[in-house]
Amino acid sequence: MPVPESAEMPATGRAALPGVDAVLRFSGTAAVVDRFGRAALVAAVRERLGAVRAAIGDDEGAPDAGWFLAAAVADLESLRAGAVERVINATGVILHTNLGRAPLSGEAVRAVVAASGYSTIELDRANGGRGSRTAHAAMLAARLTGAESAHLVNNGAAALLLAVAALSAGRTVIISRGELIEIGGSFRLPEIIAAAGAELREVGTTNRTRISDYARAIDGRTGVILKVHRSNFRMVGFTEDAGLADLVALGRTHGVPTMFDAGSGLIDAPYAPALGDEPPVRDAVASGVDLVLFSGDKLLGGPQAGLIVGHADPVAVCRRSPLARALRIDKLQVAALEATLAAHLLDNASAALPAVEMLQRPIVELKKRARTLVQRSLERENQAPKLRALSLVGAVGGGASPDVQLESFGVAIVTHDPDRLCLLLRSQSPPVVARISEGQVILDLRTVAPEEDEELLRAILQATNQLEGQYAPRAGRVG
Ligand SMILES: *Cc1c(COP(=O)(O)O)cnc(C)c1O
Repeated sequence: MPVPESAEMPATGRAALPGVDAVLRFSGTAAVVDRFGRAALVAAVRERLGAVRAAIGDDEGAPDAGWFLAAAVADLESLRAGAVERVINATGVILHTNLGRAPLSGEAVRAVVAASGYSTIELDRANGGRGSRTAHAAMLAARLTGAESAHLVNNGAAALLLAVAALSAGRTVIISRGELIEIGGSFRLPEIIAAAGAELREVGTTNRTRISDYARAIDGRTGVILKVHRSNFRMVGFTEDAGLADLVALGRTHGVPTMFDAGSGLIDAPYAPALGDEPPVRDAVASGVDLVLFSGDKLLGGPQAGLIVGHADPVAVCRRSPLARALRIDKLQVAALEATLAAHLLDNASAALPAVEMLQRPIVELKKRARTLVQRSLERENQAPKLRALSLVGAVGGGASPDVQLESFGVAIVTHDPDRLCLLLRSQSPPVVARISEGQVILDLRTVAPEEDEELLRAILQATNQLEGQYAPRAGRVG
């Protein structure tokens, strides 16, 4: 039964929510039905009503029929657009795994668009036959890192899986107990080695592993000596590690191949002086290790990818493995990777690659932008949010350089309900991802592009207004 819309209708709580019919009678519904169909609209309205009914407090103002229609339309639009949308990253974490790690360069984006239709991805232009999808990108990767050869796969984990399977299946992998890492929840080194059909041969202790520990472990079943960059944690105090050069020499003496999982893909030190002890890939290659593995979307600043670079023979063994096809890189990744590697080779990484550029952003620039944001917010006559500029500490992220604190600058929003304000910021279009520190909502500008400042300010104003105003759940996707 339709609810009579009389003056006695309660203004707050569940009892004040409109019925589905009332929403469908709202003006403008016909156009929505034309666009999405009646059934889809009814389902979206029901979903929204259910969500608000479950969440609304007795003394909270209830949204009206017009609000529900607008929210349902927003949901239907985002359903059509898909779940992946652009966000403004105000976390200060450059390689934020939840936000897709490295943002692609303009050239990489153009390359992806070009490759998304029919493309030359596997065409040999000389004879019209089948070519290699990765030959060019692999050549660039080898040239950039100083390696003889390279092979490309879907991600860093796939690189390790393939390399261990190709070189050491049915044999043992010698690794230090101090390097049995877990990255990002689902990447656990011992499990990958087992999945590759190899057996772990742990040596040394958590904090100390000497070259003699490796030497004692070598026997007829040894497949490979693996060294892994610890990436997301650091050890301090009484620690000891065997260096790559010593491991390479040991491997050569016994005819055992060596492998280094470098993780982050820092190519060489100069482009990021703040990066502490991230191991440059070029140095690792120069040490003579047979294979060096790293990710495409960490400090390389490109798409998700796994790069295997090193000596020609072991790289060829990886390429010929039956797993290579299963772990292969997608054509869009190849296109973006070519552009990314080219930017490094042309010595243009700082200007072209957003992740590299953000690492180097001068603090004075961030300071100026923060102050402008505060100034602009004060121009609002009423309901100006309480913003203040402040210095911050950001992070590289992506499991790289956990001990590096990037000096940064941004704004804090003073609020009584930081959790809810963060939710409201994530509900804007585009969503803004912030962090909470000491009860304030913090927006770090290092990871926000200067072109996004205007949108950021608009989102702050809207979210703070919504926080002060009535109940305002996410005007986004269903569910
Ligand atoms: C990040 C990382 C990986 C995993 O790479 P993905 O590209 O995330 O699959 C593997 N090893 C190390 C040392 C890493 O830092």
